Amino acid sequence: MARSDAHDGDVVVAGGGHNGVTAAAYLVRAGRRVVVLERRHVVGGAAVTEELFPGFKYSVASYVVSLLRPEIIRDLELQRHGLEILPLESTFTPLPDGDYLMRWADHDLTRREIARHSPHDAEAYDEFGQLMLQMARAVKPILGMVPPDPGSLHPRELLRLGSLGRHMRNLGEKNLYALVKLLTMSAYDYLSRWFESEDAKLVLGFFAGGGGANSSLKTPGSAYMLARGIVRDGNTPAGPAGFMKGGMSTISEAIRRSGEAYGMEVHTGVPVERILVDDGRAVGIRLAGGEEICSKIVVANATARTVFTKLIEPSLLPEDFNRDIRNIRCESTVFRVNLVLKSLPDAPVFAQAAREDGVLSQMTIAPSVAYMERAHRIAQEGEIAAEPFLIVKVPSTVDPTLAPP
Ligand SMILES: Cc1cc2nc3c(=O)[nH]c(=O)nc-3n(C[C@H](O)[C@H](O)[C@H](O)COP(=O)(O)OP(=O)(O)OC[C@H]3O[C@@H](n4cnc5c(N)ncnc54)[C@H](O)[C@@H]3O)c2cc1C
Repeated sequence: MARSDAHDGDVVVAGGGHNGVTAAAYLVRAGRRVVVLERRHVVGGAAVTEELFPGFKYSVASYVVSLLRPEIIRDLELQRHGLEILPLESTFTPLPDGDYLMRWADHDLTRREIARHSPHDAEAYDEFGQLMLQMARAVKPILGMVPPDPGSLHPRELLRLGSLGRHMRNLGEKNLYALVKLLTMSAYDYLSRWFESEDAKLVLGFFAGGGGANSSLKTPGSAYMLARGIVRDGNTPAGPAGFMKGGMSTISEAIRRSGEAYGMEVHTGVPVERILVDDGRAVGIRLAGGEEICSKIVVANATARTVFTKLIEPSLLPEDFNRDIRNIRCESTVFRVNLVLKSLPDAPVFAQAAREDGVLSQMTIAPSVAYMERAHRIAQEGEIAAEPFLIVKVPSTVDPTLAPP
């Protein structure tokens, strides 16, 4: 839609990433008039599919539906609007001795696989799995809370703080200690309390070092990533985590269609230049071409750093707040390569594993914890490791809509 079609509304959402369109879709269902303005030609932000080579479509940034909350899928009726998750059954890790370790979505299959490497660790995996489920139950309700401001004495903030405190108390002493350890220890140290085999620690802890955050398996605090995979409840009708059929744009487009069914307006190719502020309140936005749109509420979907250093005039904000914003760390050590392949990667160990799984759509190339730590250290020094660790996804093995046969 052309820029001049955008008009005043109750709510202007600056940015059409999937969080922006989700907020917009909820607000429009609540009866607000909502306009979404996205600078790119597509909505979705980092959840988009793009045809990089003719006939070949890629989820160019994020690639797996993991934390999209089931209640959002249900509330916005995303399945009716095209969302279809293709479950991921396994992740394959080849090991230096010619063997491999397969991590399955199914607990018992993973247990059997770990037992091939260490019977002790297979026993520990049952106990560890139970604890992770308890930790997921402890963390899940917090995801839906507005974080309290611990420095404020406003009654609303004190109520929020009280509600968080009650939740923590209700966890019980044993679970509370386990949660504190999960939030403060490194993934490696946490896993070492249960497992003796380095291979088990590598496979179970991989995401703590390889998930894109600027941490390694041995960074204090990285243990919380161990619970990440089970925080989302895969047993609801919304289904498990997995690849998105059609790539990640399918999520963003489903959310967009859900909102548009209630009258949400989306304009793409429309960069917001400024959030307009009057007497301490956001009152609208100015577009790059100078046009202004008034609204009662402005929802900003860009990162906090962009919002408070570029979209809002920093001199309108307290200096200590500006300093906190400037100090937000959002660096990562990850980059991505998108390829067209004639066939799956070919090696004897792959063929052996493929006989078990049928489809190898996910692999991690990281032969040892020491290898990952080395690559991470080199990245910290600003270099690209000659031997990096890799997350290899081949979604076209399960989704024929992405590439020709
Ligand atoms: C490489 C990579 C891989 C990832 N993999 C996964 C994964 O597999 N699974 C997973 O769950 N998460 C993954 N993530 C994280 C996930 O993609 C993000 O958490 C998510 O995209 C955040 O969504 P958002 O809507 O908040 O922001 P964004 O996706 O960043 O969207 C912000 C939107 O605002 C727009 N915008 C910004 N400024 C303006 C402006 N001035 N005017 C108009 N529009 C503007 C942008 O163009 C963009 O569309 C990955 C992230 C990256 C970068």
